[in-house]
Amino acid sequence: MKVKDIAALIEGVAPREFQESYDNAGLAVGSPTMEVTGVVVCLDVSEQVVEEAISLGANMVVSHHPVIFSGLKTITGKNAVERIVLKAIQNNIALYAAHTNLDSVWGGVNDKLSRVLGLTNRKILSPLKGQLVKVATFIPISHANAVRSAMFAAGAGAIGNYDCCSFNFSGEGSFRPQEGAKPFVGELGKVHFESEVQVEVICTRLVLSGVIKALVKAHPYEEPAYDIIPLENEYAQVGLGMIGDLDFPMDEADFLAYVKRKLGAKLLRYSNPTGKQVRRVAVCGGSGASFTRLAAAQQADAYVTGDVKYHDFIDAQDKLLLVDAGHFETERFTIDIFYDLIMEKIVNFALYKTKYIDNPVNYLFH
Ligand SMILES: [Zn+2]
Repeated sequence: MKVKDIAALIEGVAPREFQESYDNAGLAVGSPTMEVTGVVVCLDVSEQVVEEAISLGANMVVSHHPVIFSGLKTITGKNAVERIVLKAIQNNIALYAAHTNLDSVWGGVNDKLSRVLGLTNRKILSPLKGQLVKVATFIPISHANAVRSAMFAAGAGAIGNYDCCSFNFSGEGSFRPQEGAKPFVGELGKVHFESEVQVEVICTRLVLSGVIKALVKAHPYEEPAYDIIPLENEYAQVGLGMIGDLDFPMDEADFLAYVKRKLGAKLLRYSNPTGKQVRRVAVCGGSGASFTRLAAAQQADAYVTGDVKYHDFIDAQDKLLLVDAGHFETERFTIDIFYDLIMEKIVNFALYKTKYIDNPVNYLFH
């Protein structure tokens, strides 16, 4: 088992392509080809966690928050991040993170958070844009089925609970084979018209290169023609936050007590109650206040996230109940996600949850 194999296992659920543009998920320190002796999973990498890995004989740390986020110009140990990186390099410890890519997928942070809160009928709160493309290709009638099927098999044509989605129309293609061509039909130097089917399918950028490879392989022409068209459509299956329903509506006071208990939070900060019952609930682990309006627009009665600012509470008050349960409190079970994911795939592996699961935010009650 190499570092890249552990990464591939996690990215099978949370592809790095789904991370936000500002993010820095992936392998930050270490060689992808290093043999892994053990993995420590954590929310944040600290010097203590690196030392813990060393003492356990584990040479890979998997965290939710990337240790290097905005870049490093030196690694001299003058601050905590530099010391962590230095210590990791000196001790041959690989540091890997799955961050907003893990926030954005089923099986990830918001999936877990919404399940912890018992939400049903769930969907992604803020679907990702720029992930979908349309592929159009032009196929002689005899081979239309084969090419279409090959593209479907490579992952094209999936929309919601449907697969094998395509649009097909008939027409005529023309071409003149030039010197050196070996045409499937037609003669050198003569313009040829062939009855063709134009097949259009939708696919994600993630599977695009595989779809094109499958198209080209199944297509009988020497130079298959195809168009790749970027779409503005949202990709409903991936994105930040989730929204769903409580099985039993609650009044706002009961809902707050419910959230506090379910998340094991020491305290909650929340906006002025709206006086409505809470049935539809949006969530976003970490810092999600920017999605408050989106949650309200999707008829959420309450929105649970972290890192909420003063003016976010003001903006929210006539729309929904905005609940700040804490960045740590809405993300701490990410450790379990990593743990279960790796455990499920690899048996008899030295896998450890860090014992340093501390909220960096402290509360004074009296
Ligand atoms: Zn976070």
